[in-house]
Amino acid sequence: MTALGRRQLPRDEPPRCPAPQLSVVVPVYDEEAVINRFHTRLAAVMDGLGLTWEAVYVDDGSRDRSLLVLEALRMIQPEVAVVSLSRNFGKEAALTAGLDHAQASGALIVIDVDLQDPPEVIPELVAGWREGFDMVYAQRRSRAGETWMKKTTAHAFYRLMGRVGGPVRLPPDVGDFRLMSRRAVDALLQLRERHRFMKGLFAWVGFPAKAVLYDRAPRAAGRTKWNYGRLFNLSVEGITSFTTLPLRLATWLGLATAAVALIYGGEVAVKALVYGNPVPGYPSLMTVVLFLGGVQLITLGVIGEYLGRIFNETKGRPLYIVGRHLPSAAPGPVAAE
Ligand code: UDP
Ligand code: MG
Repeated sequence: MTALGRRQLPRDEPPRCPAPQLSVVVPVYDEEAVINRFHTRLAAVMDGLGLTWEAVYVDDGSRDRSLLVLEALRMIQPEVAVVSLSRNFGKEAALTAGLDHAQASGALIVIDVDLQDPPEVIPELVAGWREGFDMVYAQRRSRAGETWMKKTTAHAFYRLMGRVGGPVRLPPDVGDFRLMSRRAVDALLQLRERHRFMKGLFAWVGFPAKAVLYDRAPRAAGRTKWNYGRLFNLSVEGITSFTTLPLRLATWLGLATAAVALIYGGEVAVKALVYGNPVPGYPSLMTVVLFLGGVQLITLGVIGEYLGRIFNETKGRPLYIVGRHLPSAAPGPVAAE
């Protein structure tokens, strides 16, 4: 089955009956050190909710022993499901794979495994869902353990997206950590674009949303996979996925340059005719040529960004390839009673 426009549920794995009420989707990439610690904390919180639940771990082609740790965990914890991707596809694809394979009938929660998103916030998210909200996102009150530079660039990015995103409003300081109702997830999974800017896709779906404030903890172990290069690319992704404003800017830039050139040309002509001034020479010519060359290259680059995206979308490749899918086994604690 292709992933184009439809969900990638494997046919050989029938959905578990009855479906759990909550699914927790956890992307995992090289996180062997924290998985068990994370699951202990998650299970303690989830068992206290009085709802049936499963945890869908997506191994995003980890190079360490994460997959082994997950499989061992699944042996002793029936609520654990494992989806293992054939290679590293990136967090956005891993998340999508997890949402595709989650079976919850009620709501789905997305959370990082590195304990930066405290599982203890989940009851508040569920409370928001019970109030009737389809999208309950966890909003950072503080960014402990992050550098000044990261905070400033993140802030600038949210401000920029707020201006150019059009009708899609990105709530600031919100990551992927959130709860979504089944209908919101079904809507989200219809968006099969290959360039996945998840924060934007979440916002695009709409539905009544609510924020829950929390304190983001520093990483429990391991290292972040993000660096400024990747963050810059993510920002370009965010902007080009949701607005064609840069193309419009290129047009304005062209018009403005042409207008300036016209005025300047007029001045030169008048000066030559009226005062008989010699035409100004080499330095000004050089400046103008270089300036225009720069403007043209930037504009070409902007067009190229969009063209590349069109190229990638038209290939219609699946978002990810599943190596193995091990569904969760037993009904959750409540159904077992
Ligand atoms: N992750 C993933 N695939 C990747 C990179 C990251 O599944 O290619 C997972 C990672 O295991 C973690 C989450 O995405 O659960 C967030 O990653 P990270 O902590 O590196 O990002 P940050 O919290 O610094 O934004
Ligand atoms: Mg993290």
